Amino acid sequence: MAVIVQKYGGTSVGSLARIEAVAENVIATVRQGHQVVVVLSAMSGETNRLVSLATQLDAQPSTRELDMLMASGEQVSISLLTIALIQRGFSAVSLLAHQVGIRTNNHFGRARIESIDTKRLEQALEQEQVIVVAGFQGVDNEANITTLGRGGSDTSAVAMAVAVQANECQIFTDVNGIYTSDPRLVEQARKIEVLTFEEALVMASLGAKVLQNRAVEYGLRHNMPIRVLSSFEPGEGSLVTHKDTIAAELCGNQGITSIAHHQHDILVIINGIESDIAMANLFTLIGEQGIELEMLNKSVLNAGQINLQFVIHSKDQTKLTNILQKFKKNYCIKDTQIHTNVAKVSAIGVGIKAYAGLVGEVLTTLAKEQIKVLLISTSELSISVVIDEVHLNTAISRLHQVFDLASLPK
Ligand code: ADP
Ligand code: ASP
Ligand code: MG
Repeated sequence: MAVIVQKYGGTSVGSLARIEAVAENVIATVRQGHQVVVVLSAMSGETNRLVSLATQLDAQPSTRELDMLMASGEQVSISLLTIALIQRGFSAVSLLAHQVGIRTNNHFGRARIESIDTKRLEQALEQEQVIVVAGFQGVDNEANITTLGRGGSDTSAVAMAVAVQANECQIFTDVNGIYTSDPRLVEQARKIEVLTFEEALVMASLGAKVLQNRAVEYGLRHNMPIRVLSSFEPGEGSLVTHKDTIAAELCGNQGITSIAHHQHDILVIINGIESDIAMANLFTLIGEQGIELEMLNKSVLNAGQINLQFVIHSKDQTKLTNILQKFKKNYCIKDTQIHTNVAKVSAIGVGIKAYAGLVGEVLTTLAKEQIKVLLISTSELSISVVIDEVHLNTAISRLHQVFDLASLPK
């Protein structure tokens, strides 16, 4: 008998009707003779609603209390599903992270899972109960409730699959797999049947929110295949697994294989920083506030002054403005510019080689559409550009077309 871990995201449990549909899906799996561990997100919109309540009281709420608040969304969905399962005559139990023993570090809002105690899980499995676990949350060494970062239920699910030694972790969501680009924005996007952990990790890290990047990272580290499926229709979904388990013809693909994007970013430009020491101090302040920055670009002018450009998420704008005010009291800078409503678009290809040519192709495609590139960065795996958010749909659709991603790889 296999233990199957199924995770259902916010839309999949977004109403009582959806929760009943999930109950039926779980029951169908039990009837096939499997033991099931379910991991749930909060009902769709609930986590945002909770965050908005907190920020109406304080623009920068206490991170401990925010985690306490945000974690409550999952408590509602797990108990409702368990009620639906029991009502249908099945033995089931809902468990919060601290009841399972999902231990994390104490980085509120972005905690990492350190260990999972399997005792309580084994007990419930022995009693043939369906276990319904709250995703997104954990508990630190001092019994504080933590959360794993937005989209973190995916990571909870992969960690549970590893803990119960499942064959694969099933992530049920509102699309039927992982696509060459967000299928909601690019009509021609094509479903990818099977992809490597590395490919999925780059996609997730560059904004493809179908999987949280830490979930893929966890799967890679513990060799736990992840299958992304629709909770609305039957199908095989997309499988994320190790390269050596994928048939060669399915992963011999070269060049750009997907386009990812990230919205609601802010481009920060700081010109004329007086010295390296000043710059180091700025990054220390940014780091202390837990702000994640990307696409950092530094150039030095003749006079030794430093110009910096980087991207942060819009949620961190107030924190950054406060840091810059503090910074300007101690050091000289010429000017700062904050461009709101920018988006990052990335062309991804694991092992892209002829990369100057690909950069040219990306830039030509955008120039033809009169889309101004505000910042660019490249790696062996991706070419990312920052553009004005209003051009996002055109940019991804055109790049998807230019790299011929709607066609099956040759
Ligand atoms: P859940 O609430 O189930 O966790 P999410 O909203 O977090 O679902 O993730 C699913 C969404 O991810 C889809 O609705 C889709 O719009 C988006 N998405 C972005 N990039 C991709 C991609 N490459 N393939 C599939 N979905 C994607
Ligand atoms: N409810 C959390 C969020 O909205 C976790 C998740 O959905 O995975 O981010
Ligand atoms: Mg999600």
